[in-house]
Amino acid sequence: MNNKLYGNLIFELSKEGRRGYSLPANRFGNYPVPKELQRKEEAGLPECDELTVVRHYTNHSSNNFGVNNGFYPLGSCTMKYNPAIDEEMSAMPEFSNLHPLQPHHTVAGAEDVCNLLSESLKAITGMEAFTLKPYAGAHGELTGLMIIKAYHESRGDMKRTKVIVPDSAHGTNPASAAVCGLSVVEVKSRADGTVDVDDLRSILDETVAAMMMTNPNTLGLFEKSIPEIAELVHSHGALMYYDGANLNPMLGACRPGDMGFDVMHINLHKTFATPHGGGGPGAGPVGVRKGLEQFFPTVSPYQGNFAVAMRAYAYILSLGKENIKMVGPLATLNANYIKESLKDVYELPIDGLCKHEFVFNGLKDKSTGVTTMDVAKRLLDYGYHAPTIYFPLLFHESLMIEPAENESKETMDGFIEVMRRIAEEAKTEPDTVKNAPHNTPIGRVDDVLAAKHPIVTYRQMCNNKQEQ
Ligand SMILES: *Cc1c(COP(=O)(O)O)cnc(C)c1O
Repeated sequence: MNNKLYGNLIFELSKEGRRGYSLPANRFGNYPVPKELQRKEEAGLPECDELTVVRHYTNHSSNNFGVNNGFYPLGSCTMKYNPAIDEEMSAMPEFSNLHPLQPHHTVAGAEDVCNLLSESLKAITGMEAFTLKPYAGAHGELTGLMIIKAYHESRGDMKRTKVIVPDSAHGTNPASAAVCGLSVVEVKSRADGTVDVDDLRSILDETVAAMMMTNPNTLGLFEKSIPEIAELVHSHGALMYYDGANLNPMLGACRPGDMGFDVMHINLHKTFATPHGGGGPGAGPVGVRKGLEQFFPTVSPYQGNFAVAMRAYAYILSLGKENIKMVGPLATLNANYIKESLKDVYELPIDGLCKHEFVFNGLKDKSTGVTTMDVAKRLLDYGYHAPTIYFPLLFHESLMIEPAENESKETMDGFIEVMRRIAEEAKTEPDTVKNAPHNTPIGRVDDVLAAKHPIVTYRQMCNNKQEQ
């Protein structure tokens, strides 16, 4: 793309008096705008011809990298397959034009979608009831913890102020606990990456409200001690919370409801379609076991993010009961294929079978000085999105890789080849890797400067010169 020709900002292309569009004639007559609501100054809108506008935005849009452009191995965030048919379903005017305040008898179809989705989620997870209201995973966690708090309070048990969270947990877990007014106690991981049950035993007491767990955990490992952990936690009167943000490796293999979890959330936008790059949209339905349904709080009006629920239901229906069972095994196979193909050149801190994702601790050869950040940036040069980096915090150079369940072998082979090439470059031409990316519209940015001196506004001068 030629940034100079089409400009970084539409304002920089503005020429006084240019027109790209003419408004239709005013059909409504002239109504006086009260003086106090009238502008004191010109709006300062850009003035451009049609082709300049079209090219400007088209070129900007092609700078985006998404799952439809190429391989997107981001771990912990399951940037998965988002079939176009799910988009079509949720965009059907019969659904997308609904108003939340429409008379009840006119929205029976949408109500069916919500009920059928809840039924499907119950069957998939083994939970007793679901609320579709939460708008995201973190919102689901907060909702779930509010349920747990309400449960303890309903029994007059007011001393439970702590939530136990593994040190490998997603950052939203401790954050949600804090927002819910609970304090966080960290439980350690064992050398094999799973929860240290002895450490848990030493933490548990009558002030613990809940234990939050992710399974497979953020290292992509199946927590084999869950039955033992659930029994321990329950014996101390606390509840088990399941972070089901990335449920895909579990689909058809096992159900959190059968493992002793009391409350859980699912990220529909990670496990059941909906593209969610750039922070949205999402939906984090919360499920509870029998006996906790009466504690569902009102965390949003109406039925939550209906368009996301619609996509999820279309996704589940299009796979069906039989095919949905293939998702978990295929996600697991793909992750293990990549892990095994690269572990001789990247450091694998925890060996063994992983589930849908796994974590390397940077390059195996530490003598080159090439970091995980450098590898991630160099991948952009080769047309791949970077994996999740520097998370989880258990390792200094975390590189967390997750292929989707439906990636072809050829796609993964291409990624493996490039990862091996970068490992080779780290030895032969380390500066190329350290200064990457070279082929992107913007090169390596200065993270520290951007964080310390962010420029978040754009000021335009009247004479069309701008300062930043
Ligand atoms: C993504 C994620 C969350 C948070 O979900 P949001 O929708 O981003 O709020 C929580 N836990 C895990 C394990 C996740 O991967």
